[in-house]
Amino acid sequence: MDSQPPSRIAVIGGGFSGTMAAVQILRAANRPLELHIIERKPPLGRGVAYGTRYGSHLLNVPAGKMSAFPSDPDHFLRWLQAHPELLSAPPTPTTFAPRKVYGAYVQSLLAEAEAKATVDVQVTHWTDEAIDLDIWDGHATINLESGQSLEVDRVILAIGNFPPGHPHLGDRSFFASERYVGDPWQKGNLDSVKPDDVVLLIGSGLTALDLTLGMRERGHKGVVHLLSRRGQLPQRHQNAEPYPRFLEEPLPVTVRALVKRVRQELKKAQAAGVDWRPVLDALRPQTQSIWHALPLQERRRFLGRVRPYWEVRRHRMPPDAAALADEMLASGRLHLYGGRLVSLDERDGGVESRFRERGAAEDTVVRVDRVINCTGPECDYRRMRHPLIASLLGQGLVRPDDLALGLDTDASGSLLDAEGHPSHILYTLGPLRKGTLWETTAVPEIRVQAEELAATLLCDS
Ligand SMILES: Cc1cc2nc3c(=O)[nH]c(=O)nc-3n(C[C@H](O)[C@H](O)[C@H](O)COP(=O)(O)OP(=O)(O)OC[C@H]3O[C@@H](n4cnc5c(N)ncnc54)[C@H](O)[C@@H]3O)c2cc1C
Repeated sequence: MDSQPPSRIAVIGGGFSGTMAAVQILRAANRPLELHIIERKPPLGRGVAYGTRYGSHLLNVPAGKMSAFPSDPDHFLRWLQAHPELLSAPPTPTTFAPRKVYGAYVQSLLAEAEAKATVDVQVTHWTDEAIDLDIWDGHATINLESGQSLEVDRVILAIGNFPPGHPHLGDRSFFASERYVGDPWQKGNLDSVKPDDVVLLIGSGLTALDLTLGMRERGHKGVVHLLSRRGQLPQRHQNAEPYPRFLEEPLPVTVRALVKRVRQELKKAQAAGVDWRPVLDALRPQTQSIWHALPLQERRRFLGRVRPYWEVRRHRMPPDAAALADEMLASGRLHLYGGRLVSLDERDGGVESRFRERGAAEDTVVRVDRVINCTGPECDYRRMRHPLIASLLGQGLVRPDDLALGLDTDASGSLLDAEGHPSHILYTLGPLRKGTLWETTAVPEIRVQAEELAATLLCDS
């Protein structure tokens, strides 16, 4: 292992995770350092979640819980209060701010950290894609799509959320159609949607809701059909007093025991007139420990049996978005189906979508003009077309976790190689750690990881 302190750090990916890792490194740096931030789709600080241009795309966490700094919980709220022109009403801890405003916040943090860095830190922003990485003699060489390369001592892989894989269909020819949008977060994803188009969104989670609201903001007036296995929209947020931590040590080691204990508490809360939301929210600080306590087969059981129920309750709609969804459902502009997609065929200037609703004996056929894939980020790295990931997997420098939800890491965020040895050069944070931590994709967890990772890298060796 290298015994010299790292002097050259590269962050690959400039979304929330990569930007906050860079901010924390800049704040904690106590010796001269080269910091490289590589992002293929600038500007930095926005990524998939906060790069949206639609004002109707709101944070799904209230402002009081969205500080980028774990030790300063009101930081985002104070920033909003200092920028009243960005909101239509004065911010409060329960405000659900537009995500593009949050992107401006994160961008401002990087600019401030760069301006205030106290030691000689040289920051370089690369607008480029890292396509390949070699490790030799305790260092890494990162090759960029432009043909340039850079040599560093430590690498933070902050490559985040990937577009969804195509829905499961026997005949995949439709996925080449111009009437199909495979990546719901791609720039210009709604450009092809005409105001009166009938649109089928595959998925009914927060991404489908985003797309519905985005189309509406662009003047779309046509009917929107949402199809998902269970046909459930996410539950909605509601203000409530925090509920105390109720899950005691030792934590349950089976899903059955876990569900039983949570159900007991929900009943108790209901009897006392307390809403279910704060009860589930009380699990949040313990979610990673709960996941850790479950053996692998129990984690699999959770994914197979409990996940769908968990997802719609954990990832909730901001109240304004929920009200719009209600209005569209009531007026017949939004239709929700629970079932399995059977086929998508382009014919007669449109698309014939066929699906089997739950419990139905026959297929439902709906004719639409566009189909947009909103099935959620692809997590199985073996299936991705990402040159850098392919290179890392091919060299055995990283490996998928046992559940194929991300890449395998140790407790510090160091990536494990094909044999399970932690790297002293490659680290990660955020969505890539989902298999190891489960709860790791949102700001409250990533901000902690960014701070801890900066400390690890700067104190390392
Ligand atoms: C639509 C959406 C809304 C969300 N809303 C919220 C919310 O309201 N509150 C909350 O707490 N969480 C929310 N989340 C969770 C979100 O995952 C995190 O908050 C956070 O934004 C994740 O950031 P990231 O940097 O890890 O990933 P990303 O935002 O995906 O950023 C990764 C970046 O890496 C870049 N990249 C990838 N590969 C390379 C490469 N080889 N070379 C160079 N650059 C590369 C990409 O271009 C991208 O900009 C949301 C997620 C999504 C998808």
